Amino acid sequence: MLNLHKAEFIRSAVKPSDFPSDGLPQIVFAGKSNVGKSSTINKILNRRNFARVGGQPGKTIHINFFSIDQQVYFVDLPGYGYAKVSKAERDRWGRLLETYFASDKITLGFQIVDIRHKPTADDKVMADWFLSTGKPFVVIANKWDKIKKSELEPNVACIRQTLLLPEEVPVIPFSAEKGSGREDVLALIEAHAAAFAAEHTTPSV
Ligand code: GDP
Repeated sequence: MLNLHKAEFIRSAVKPSDFPSDGLPQIVFAGKSNVGKSSTINKILNRRNFARVGGQPGKTIHINFFSIDQQVYFVDLPGYGYAKVSKAERDRWGRLLETYFASDKITLGFQIVDIRHKPTADDKVMADWFLSTGKPFVVIANKWDKIKKSELEPNVACIRQTLLLPEEVPVIPFSAEKGSGREDVLALIEAHAAAFAAEHTTPSV
């Protein structure tokens, strides 16, 4: 089991040499600005102000690395899709993300989308990036508390269809506000950490 109390900020990366390279799993969180990415990370860790909530959208073009129990990293990618961002900033975002994806360090990807809406063109690009890594990929459909019960199934189907998700990619309804879906996300993270630990344990003789 991961001790979620042992979560600490490691660094903000702006270039490849800043990316941790100790071989521990890197669990990546991506999402459009304001989708609730920081809130989701905080809810998973049961913290209030760990990842920063409601910061200036689009202003943080760096990748934040957190160590969880010295067993895995949580990687907070800069949000995308904020309208008021300059072309230069958008380009910087693209270059940094491309460099990180090319570094082949991602071991599990989470993309956070808004359960109320059809995913955007940017969401599609992001999902394709994750799918092209060939690593396990999961979509978190956040703000579940904002829809009616009857909307759940059609909205999840719309997300699957729009992002062209293969069957093996789960879509997990989630509410960073209420905590619903937290156990499902946590179970995937625990399983990922456990599988890695099992692979890296030296057999006793
Ligand atoms: P980020 O830009 O993706 O990191 O988004 P934030 O975590 O800062 O959240 C953006 C806004 O959405 C904040 O006002 C949050 O309180 C709100 N929010 C995030 N998740 C939820 C959710 O599940 N339900 C509701 N109702 N509001 C949410």
